[in-house]
Order: sequence, then C-alpha cells, then structure tokens
Amino acid sequence: MAELSPLMQQYIEIKNQHKDEILFYRIGDFYEMFFDDALTVSKELDLTLTGKQCGLEERAPMCGVPFHSYENYVARLIAKGYKVAICEQMEDPAKAKGLVKRDIIRVVTPGTVIESSMLQDDRNNYIASIYLKGKKAGLCFADVSTGTAHITELSADKIASAVITELCRYHPSEVLMNPGLLDCREVTAYIKKSLTCSVELIEDERYAPGLVSTALEGQFGRSWAQATGIAEDGLVRFAMAALLEYLHDTQIKGVERLKTVITYNKAQFMWLSSVTRANLELTETLRGREKRGTLLWVLDKTRTSMGKRLLRGWIEQPLLSSTLINRRLNAVESLVKQTIVRGDLIDELGYVADMERLMTRTVYGSATPKEIYTLAQTCDRLPSLRKQAESCGCPELAELAARIDPLEDIKARIFAAVDPEAPSTLKDGGVIAKGYHAEVDELRSIRDNTKGVLAQLEARLRQETGIPKLKIAYNHVYGYYIEVSNSYKSMVPETYIRKQTLTTGERYITQELKELESKILGAHERLITLERRLFDELLESISAQLDRIQRTANAVAQLDVLTALAQVAAENNYCRPIVDDGDELTITEGRHPVVEQMLKGSLFVPNDTTLNCTTDRCLIITGPNMAGKSTYMRQNALIALMAQIGSFVPASSCHVGVVDAIFTRIGASDDLSAGQSTFMVEMTEVADILKNATPKSLVVLDEIGRGTSTFDGMSIARAVVEHITDPAKGLGCKTLFATHYHELTELEGALDGVKNYNIAVKKRGEDITFLRRIIRGPADDSYGIEVAKLAGLPGSVTRRAHEVLRTLEATAPKNKVEQMDFDALQEYNSPAVPSEMMEKLEALDVETLTPIEALNFLYELKKTLKGSLNG
Ligand code: ATP
Repeated sequence: MAELSPLMQQYIEIKNQHKDEILFYRIGDFYEMFFDDALTVSKELDLTLTGKQCGLEERAPMCGVPFHSYENYVARLIAKGYKVAICEQMEDPAKAKGLVKRDIIRVVTPGTVIESSMLQDDRNNYIASIYLKGKKAGLCFADVSTGTAHITELSADKIASAVITELCRYHPSEVLMNPGLLDCREVTAYIKKSLTCSVELIEDERYAPGLVSTALEGQFGRSWAQATGIAEDGLVRFAMAALLEYLHDTQIKGVERLKTVITYNKAQFMWLSSVTRANLELTETLRGREKRGTLLWVLDKTRTSMGKRLLRGWIEQPLLSSTLINRRLNAVESLVKQTIVRGDLIDELGYVADMERLMTRTVYGSATPKEIYTLAQTCDRLPSLRKQAESCGCPELAELAARIDPLEDIKARIFAAVDPEAPSTLKDGGVIAKGYHAEVDELRSIRDNTKGVLAQLEARLRQETGIPKLKIAYNHVYGYYIEVSNSYKSMVPETYIRKQTLTTGERYITQELKELESKILGAHERLITLERRLFDELLESISAQLDRIQRTANAVAQLDVLTALAQVAAENNYCRPIVDDGDELTITEGRHPVVEQMLKGSLFVPNDTTLNCTTDRCLIITGPNMAGKSTYMRQNALIALMAQIGSFVPASSCHVGVVDAIFTRIGASDDLSAGQSTFMVEMTEVADILKNATPKSLVVLDEIGRGTSTFDGMSIARAVVEHITDPAKGLGCKTLFATHYHELTELEGALDGVKNYNIAVKKRGEDITFLRRIIRGPADDSYGIEVAKLAGLPGSVTRRAHEVLRTLEATAPKNKVEQMDFDALQEYNSPAVPSEMMEKLEALDVETLTPIEALNFLYELKKTLKGSLNG
C-alpha cells in the first residue's frame, strides 16, 4: 500500500497537534498548506489550489505563499477569524542531514498579534480572559502588543450585564472563558453578536490552584500578589493564569513582556452602555462606523501612536474623581496658555516612534534593525520633551517630565551598534555600524575587496596562460569559475579542472580559485551570522531595560494626549470647565463639538443649559423636526463627558458636577436584524435606563413612545418622565427629554424640577426658518408640514396636508386627537384644482418668462382646467 512521504509524515505529525489552526508549513522560500487547510486558504484568500506528490496515489491539495510576505496573508486569515500556526525550518536545509527539522514557532491568534502589519496603530488590541463563578467574575484585558493588562473583580446581582459593560469598554478581539461562563447566555450572546471575536473555552482542569500559582509565580515572581495587585483569593488570579498559559502555548517566547498590570474597578469610570457609546458617536459614527464625525476625530490631534491609543482609552473611560479630572485639566490649561511650548512639543512628538509596540517586538526578538534605530532616534528627543514639560511650571506636567527617562545609555548603545542605513531585515547584513566590532569590520573588508582580488587573479591568469579573454565569473551552481572561449581552449593548462561545456567555450575551476572562493563566501556567511548574533545581544540588552522604557513611553503618551487636548482647546476656543462633586450641569454658550466642525462655513448657534437635581431636573424640549433638539441634547452629554476626560469644552463657561453615567435613548439603534421590533428595542433601552440610573446620572431621551399608538406612546412617555424626575423613586436625576407630544409640556408646574424649553423658529407665510436657539417655554407648533416641504415633499402633498390639518383643527382643539372628526375629511378627497396644474404652476420660473411664453402658459392652463372639469 502507498505510504506518505517522510515530509508528509512530518507534516501530519505537526498538524495533529494543531488541528484548530491553519498550519503554515515552511518549505524553502514558501509557507505551504496541505489537505483541508489548502482548500480553506485557497478559498478564503483566492489562491491557486495545486497539488503535491505526497506518496499516496492522489496528490495532496496544496497552496502556498512566499515566506517574505506571509504577514499579509496571515493578517487576512486572522481577520476572518482563523488562527494560524507558523511552522519553521529549524535548521539550514543546505546543511541538514535527511529531513529538515521543523517546529511551531508561534500560533497567531486575533488577540495575540504583535506584527505592526496586523495591528492598527491607533487602537489597542485586547485579549480578554474571564473567570466567572456565581455572581462574581475575575476579568483580565491584556494588550500583548504593549505588554499591559487591566484587571478587575466584579461582584453583582446582575453579573452578566456587569461583564458585558466591561467587554464593551475594551472591545477585545479574542476572549478566553471558563466553562462557568457558558451558563451566562446573555454574555455569550453579546460576545457572539456584538464582538464577533474569537472565543476559546479553557477547561476547568486548567484552573487547578497548583497550576494557577505556578503560572503567576513564573510571570511575576513569588510575591505576585504584591507585584501586580491581583488578590490572592480573588477570581482574577484564575483569569490571569489562564491568559498566561494561553500566551505560553501560542507565543513560545516573549511572554515576559506582559509586565504592567493595572487594577481598576468600575467605580473609577463613568458608566456608558454600548448603546450610549454608539449614540454619542464617541469613537465611530452610527452610520458608516467611521472615525470622521466622532468626538475622537475632533480631539485627536495626537502625534504618536501611543498617544492615539491612550486618547481613545480616555474617551472610552471618562473619570469620576474630580481630583483626577482637575489634575488633567491643570495640565491642559497650562499647555493652552503656553503657546510656544505647545508648538515645540507638537513638533518634537512628531518624531517619537511607537516605543510600546517596538519594545514588544524587541522582547520577542522580532524587531528589525531599522526599527531599533528609530528607537534611538526617539530617545534623542526625550531630553527636549522633558525640558519642555518641565518649563511649563505646572506640577502635573513636572511630574510627567520626571517620569521621562532620557535613556541616554540605550540611545548611545544603539547608535554605536546599529548602522544608520540599517535595512529592515537581517538576512543581508549591513546592520552593525562600522567600528563597533573588529571582526565585523575585518570580514567586511574581505568581502568588499573581493572584486579587486578577483580582478588581480584574472589579470595574473591571463598573463600566465596567454589567453587574453580569460574571465573569472560566478554563478549559484558552480560558484566561481574560469571561462575560456573555444578558440583558446588548447592553451588551457592541465591543472585546470573542466566543469562545464558551453557551445561558445569551457568553464574550469582551479585549486587556487576554490580556496579563494571559500574564503570569500565564508566571509559573507560568517559576517551575516556574526551580525545577527550581535544584533540579538543588543535586543537582549535593550529588553533588560524594559521597565524604564515602558515608564517613559507611558509618560510620553500622556504628554501627547494632554498637548493634543490643549491644541484642540486653543484652536476651537474651548473653555476650562469647573468640575466638582456637586450636581450642576450649567453651560453658557455651549456648542456641539462635532457638528460645529462639520458645519463648515455656516456658524453654529451656541445655547445655554441649566440642569441640576433640584429646580431644573428635567428639561422637556419641544420644537419642529430638524430644529436641533437632538444636537442640543447630545452636545450637553458630550460636554459633560469631555469635561470628565479632562478636556476643555466647547462653551464660554461651564460647570460640571461629576455624573456617574450617561444614558441615552435615541431612535437610531433599532435592531431589527436581531429580531426585535423598533418599539421593543426602545422599551428595552428605557427599561435599562430606569433600572440603572442613579441621582448622579445624566439621562438623554429623544422621543420615546413613538413606536406605538399616540395614546400609548404619550402615556408611556409621561410615566417615564414622572419616574425619572421623582427623587422618591430613587432617581431625580438630570434629564433632557425631547418630544413631539406637546401634552407633556403640561408637566411643568405639575412636577417639581420640570422645565419646558423649545427651539425657536421663525414663520413667514407657509415657510419657516430655524433659529437654532433654545428658549424657555413650550413650542407653539410642530411645523411638521413646513419641515416636510423643506425636505422636498411635492407641493401637492403638503398643500393637501394643510387642508387636512385645517379640517382636523376645526373639529377639535389643537392636538386633541381624540376629538378630531376624521369623517369631515371626506369632502376634501378630490381637490378642486387638478394637481397636474398646480405642479406646472409651481415649476414655473416667472422671473425668466417672456410675455409670449406667459401667454402660452396661460392658454395651456386653461386647456388643462377645461379638460379636468369636463372629465
Ligand atoms: P428631529 O426631531 O427630526 O430628529 P432635531 O430637532 O433633533 O430633528 P437635529 O437633528 O438636532 O434636529 O438638527 C438638525 C440639523 O440642524 C443638524 O444636523 C445641524 O446641521 C443643524 N443644527 C442643529 N443645531 C444647530 C445649531 N445650534 N447651530 C447650527 N446648526 C444646528
């Protein structure tokens, strides 16, 4: 019976240990895939499927990718949710006796990638590890590419929603979970639906206490609890240990990079549900999911990738401590005032490389010579960054400056060791700087003098043999050889050994040429090996300084974000908010940070806001569609949020009492694809708000109750307002409530703290102009038909709508739907004037009409009228 070839047997052995992953199997200059993997990959990546003799009767399905560009292919497979195991040749095929040894060097998964080509510079890539037991959970979110882990312990009656909130905050690309989490359907459904990330179930045996302490000790030392803040009896230790084990299984080396462990608890950050994050368009737009048009887009004037990631983190996690917020604001204020320093910082930061991710690749041994050189160039900027930050005379910035280590020693070592022109790979040498290592210099001189030495030899041999066209050349098969054309063949000495016959001549080698060849080729090989060794030593020595570099990188990232916030504040005329623990949200001349940027050319109309937990608890906002209600409500929410990340705000003055959460119900996130009706989604979101809001929350409700009949909707809307504004119900929180139900304006006076506002419009005839100004009192009209006209509804329809409205209003007081006489409408069903005629009139441009055209038109009209009356 046919048997698999040795190569295929080796493949199958390795594949059996990596059944869940696509195996990239290195053969020469390619990574090849076989059997099912080949079928999958050729389909997913649109590669040609071929076959390879494998010893069996049928050829094995096969496809392959060049090894030097494999990252791109792996990235695409990872993005499609696959995991890829990279199998390398562990010895030089040229020197191997028999089958080349191969082994897995790494398993690439979505949450563990470190290659820049597979990561986005401006966002962290988190892998989550969750250990859930009863109503408690230990959570760990690690970014392997920056070596940082955030950990927290949760304990809540509704543990599922607490876990979901954290998942939503970090948005991991891969989740490890214990079997206990499988019982929590809500969480698994959320992961499946909203995160669409890769999930790995870790079996219970892997959480055995012995294994857990060994893993933690191995990573953080015997006193791991002290070193990391992980509680010895908490659940996080299970989550962290599972994560470390997983990393060891997938990464093989470099796991020690995961050093920074940040303990947080949810009481430190503003509570923002996934719905609110989406509605406020913090980091991506609702439609299009783009950065342009978001708060992040407005604030992101950062210059470094580290700053970009940190700013995103700040926006996703507004603070609750007024002390910490004010510390950030102090730094921003100082940088706003110091225009020159700010400008210098912005310039300097532009030269700073992504030290965090570069350090990861250094520890993993995969940093390229060029990258390491940029690390030194970055170090070159550090003293100046430090000096600028110190010069501001602001204690917070001085503290940051003190954390910037100039890393002079590291810079000096790199500049001494690495050639300024160093390439991106090690394979061709040219990495180590001249003068750094004597042997490197010597080998290079042999290599570089090759040409001269060969030319000398060639000249001598020509002279010795008398063959004028004798030539020394090189090819991959024979190495160096002597070529003599047919006409001089007879003059070749006997000592020459013939190697190849060509139609035009012969090729020979000599003992002397062979010796010279091994010297030349050996020098090159030895040089490459030596350069690689020296470079690896350099990486190791830099890795040993990881803590210092990481601390510096963090400080630089913060300086970058603070400078960016100051720059945005200065460019857009923002003000410093007063932030304290009171209950006010008072804004003078507030603007929507994003809409004002998008308006381009036209001016944004600023508006004031007075909200608190006593006299002005709930603002009921009425006004026509398109008047600016949503914009106004969102701008208030965004201003509070911006203040709590430590940013200046778009207003002329502002006072924010820290809010513990922002809740929004805005009609755009209806989830019909998940099988829920618009009304159902709306009510679920409202229920969520009523359950979770506290007196310190800010609630934004945009037209609730729309998805059902008018009476039901109005009744629900009213009951919700009563509930939210009532301190006796445990709420009484600050609320902005936009509605088209004018009946709700009656609540002012009836309920404490309710105030009516409307957005002013100017009416001229049947046209309206939006003034964008928020004023006290209820709106006098909803101007629905006028807005519909603005939207381009045909004149015939809007006119008919006016007729209907007039009839309904004649039968009942305005907005009292229950008393309207719809039967009275019948008589209007056929308009007296044919609509065709009205449309023609409407389209007529009187200004450009000549008298004769006017006459013709009149004639036409008359004809139409006659036709319609007769017909
Ligand atoms: P609807 O009830 O139909 O949802 P709305 O009253 O909520 O409408 P918005 O969506 O807030 O209206 O605003 C409509 C548009 O008006 C915005 O896209 C924006 O371009 C403009 N706008 C809103 N407020 C202002 C303002 N204060 N200054 C200038 N333009 C504004």
